[in-house]
Amino acid sequence: MSVLRPGYDDGYNFWCPACVRIHRIRADRAFDGQWSAPSFEKPIRTAWRDFTDAGRAAYTTWMGAGTSDLSPYCETRAEVCVVLIRAGWLEYLPESTHEFAGKTLPMEPIP
Ligand SMILES: [Zn+2]
Repeated sequence: MSVLRPGYDDGYNFWCPACVRIHRIRADRAFDGQWSAPSFEKPIRTAWRDFTDAGRAAYTTWMGAGTSDLSPYCETRAEVCVVLIRAGWLEYLPESTHEFAGKTLPMEPIP
């Protein structure tokens, strides 16, 4: 069963169980063609910003108030996930900000 899905621009998508979201792989990454147990030559780095607990609470309160006012300041933090994909395994590098940094998990199909 494939654990990759074709992405736009001829890239690939995979499910990251550490981040509980899909990550994208650019088309120019060397791929061994094994869709059920893929390997890519270099680590895949994904970075974004997410709410802190305080930021999410502020956002939820603002949304719950049903106001059309501008959003208040909602605190966020930088998140990064760096993973080497080898033979269908996800090897998370230590610089990842999630709890699986330094650990290895099996790939799963995109839910
Ligand atoms: Zn991730």
